[in-house]
Amino acid sequence: MLKKLFQSLRSPSRRTQHKRSTPEVLNSGQHSLQKAQFSRYAVNIVERLQNAGYQAYLVGGCVRDMLLNITPKDFDVATSATPEQIRAEFRNARIIGRRFKLVHIHFGREIIEVATFRANHPQDEDEDSNQSSRNESGRILRDNVYGTLEDDAQRRDFTINALYYDPVSERILDYANGVHDIRNRLIRLIGDPTQRYQEDPVRMLRAVRFAAKLDFGIEKHTVAPIRKLAPMLREIPSARLFEEVLKLFLSGYAADTFEMLVDLKLFEPLFPASFEALEHNPTYTHTLISEALINTDLRIQQNKPVTPAFLFAALLWPALPGRVLRLQAKGMPPIPAMQEAAHELISEQCQRIAIPKRFTLPIREIWDMQERLPRRSGKRADLLLDNPRFRAGYDFLLLRETAGEQTDGLGEWWTDYQDANDAGRRDMIRDLGSKDDGTGTGPRKRRRSPAGKRKRAAGTDE
Ligand code: ATP
Ligand code: MG
Repeated sequence: MLKKLFQSLRSPSRRTQHKRSTPEVLNSGQHSLQKAQFSRYAVNIVERLQNAGYQAYLVGGCVRDMLLNITPKDFDVATSATPEQIRAEFRNARIIGRRFKLVHIHFGREIIEVATFRANHPQDEDEDSNQSSRNESGRILRDNVYGTLEDDAQRRDFTINALYYDPVSERILDYANGVHDIRNRLIRLIGDPTQRYQEDPVRMLRAVRFAAKLDFGIEKHTVAPIRKLAPMLREIPSARLFEEVLKLFLSGYAADTFEMLVDLKLFEPLFPASFEALEHNPTYTHTLISEALINTDLRIQQNKPVTPAFLFAALLWPALPGRVLRLQAKGMPPIPAMQEAAHELISEQCQRIAIPKRFTLPIREIWDMQERLPRRSGKRADLLLDNPRFRAGYDFLLLRETAGEQTDGLGEWWTDYQDANDAGRRDMIRDLGSKDDGTGTGPRKRRRSPAGKRKRAAGTDE
């Protein structure tokens, strides 16, 4: 995939051709889409809007994915009706968003997103306008300038996302040579790439996301400015980045996505501390993170649940030891140093990516588990097994071992312990003997300070 990233597969000279004011029209015989494949609610919305005298199309990911025989994640509708006009047509409609106002129409659990045609922001426009605004680096802060269908096509991000399907006439309107790029498996920005990234740096992440998901290459002019502009991601509000990062890592293509993010220098502005660990300890950090992501992808493929907490726990873990050592060097005992480092690291990370509390708490618990899993004597092992975080903690231990951490066979011990019957378990605990004095193996042996005991007694998950 990486190789493909840098190749402009075909027709590099077509760079100027991806803007057109009259679309290429593909009639029903010229494409593979069938109205019946689309959500009937989405088709119904289009029909109702058209009957009310508006233009309306299915657009974006659903058209792109259908052309590639992929089941779309959701269905987006674009229309000439304003949000208020849409709401007047549908009782089950809600206007949402500020930066980008749109309408959600609810049908039971299905939500169809309906957006009014937008125009590009002229750069020299009055900046105080209520509908649109940019900051000094050209980033669009508000994007509610309505426009025509042609305008709407030009302001979309990639050519493959600017295809409009009319389920009534069963025609596709292609304003940006998107069908051509789908055939050639290329992610290509519409317009001038540098300007489009400056308007919205998140488009750099979207390029990577679609390249990984679709196994497409990124066209060379589209990839060229990314490394230089990557630091612009620091300006994006942390709540938006959290949403984007979840899409990057929980869509089933996280391992490839990670490689591309690192390669295009997009990983650093998202996870500065992990990036530093990657520089200092490349093999270990890379293995730990990519193993976690490969597992995540596999679980998604198998329809198993995945938790963002485990993912963030893995992404940040390699950044912990350096901080613990730094605090210890200042005289802090190991366990408080670990707690303090974890706290610092998560708060710093949240400045970039707003990880909600419901995930930061479990991250801490998974990390705490790593301190507790070596302490197995007496009744401790059984108490740990009953702990709701045991499974995540144990999986995390195995992950650390895969990345080369030395734990003296702790993972295998826990695997056997789970498989053993009561008598077997008692034997295993007895056999620990002097090996486990409650602190497990290695350097932690001497660390059983009163502070440590207190912390365990007040454990977060008992
Ligand atoms: P998927 O839903 O599979 O993640 P999608 O292409 O539908 O992919 P959405 O985030 O649902 O992506 O956005 C719908 C459409 O809106 C996109 O196809 C694109 O045309 C447009 N769009 C979304 N985000 C941007 C952006 N940051 N800049 C320009 N256009 C965008
Ligand atoms: Mg979509």
